[in-house]
Amino acid sequence: MIDRKRGSTFAAGLLGTLLAVCLAVTATSALAADRTQAAADCSGGYVGLTYDDGPNAGNTANLLNALTSNGLRATMFNTGQNAQNNQGLVRAQRDAGMWIGNHSWSHPHLTQLSSSQMTSELQRTQQVIQQATGTAPRLFRPPYGETNATLRSVEQQLGLTEVLWDVDSQDWNGASTAQIVQAAGRLQNGQVILMHDQYATTLAAVPQIAANLRGRNLCAGMISPATGRAVAPDGGSNPPSSPPPGGGSCTVTITQGQQWSDRFNLSVTVSGSSSWIVTVTLRAPQKIIATWNGTPSWDSTGYVMTMRPNGSGNTFGFTVQHNGTWTWPSVTCRTG
Ligand SMILES: [Zn+2]
Repeated sequence: MIDRKRGSTFAAGLLGTLLAVCLAVTATSALAADRTQAAADCSGGYVGLTYDDGPNAGNTANLLNALTSNGLRATMFNTGQNAQNNQGLVRAQRDAGMWIGNHSWSHPHLTQLSSSQMTSELQRTQQVIQQATGTAPRLFRPPYGETNATLRSVEQQLGLTEVLWDVDSQDWNGASTAQIVQAAGRLQNGQVILMHDQYATTLAAVPQIAANLRGRNLCAGMISPATGRAVAPDGGSNPPSSPPPGGGSCTVTITQGQQWSDRFNLSVTVSGSSSWIVTVTLRAPQKIIATWNGTPSWDSTGYVMTMRPNGSGNTFGFTVQHNGTWTWPSVTCRTG
């Protein structure tokens, strides 16, 4: 089982490498520079990827490989029991650049326990992770997201910040890889997504999650112990999230549609407001050759399209002639 998984991960990695080689052969050096730059573009902000219930022998190493090879960092909410049984994997999480949080010792329904039982569950986990890595966690995620005032006071006594989630990937509930990727596509600047350490579907979603975030200029960040929100890995502040002032707010979800050798379709769904203004910034030398279900206007460079509603609802689309650059344009939303 483990070997088979490793095998398929290796095969996928090899395929990815071959594709990358093929692309590199046709790419100019200017394009290569553009790709590098695009990969590091965090102008859309930061999101928190979280993986609960590890570490597990046979899963965690694969997950860490997938994350690091896709340039992603995540927060791993470990149970104390699993950390105790897999101390080498806890160190591997740390060494792979992941942040490590506390997810209780035995994953009970904590709100049904006494205050002293809660303390024991959290404290033992702090100790075993400290033992394995030299650092005690600052973040805590209650199992099942169940919390109450007693638990919060125990967390506070141990210096832990409670972290729930904004988006549930539903991987624990049988979501497919495509559904997990789609869930990650809903993440906005500062938000946190719930995933788990042990599912093959979740593991397989990693490269597409990376591509989706990259296409939206979002980067995987750390979760701030001060605020419980996703921030830059150095703890720095986020760029202002769209939408700034002006009352009302909106968010965009981007989906890739049909794709041809020279062009691809994207569709953008706006939620939160029906009075929206969406800015699409192309990556030179891309060109938009068609739009639908919106009223576009263009700036003087021809690379920035502003789209407004035209009475066709809150989803519009456009065709990008990629001219060698497949990275999605950046898309931001404000209300007007
Ligand atoms: Zn859990």
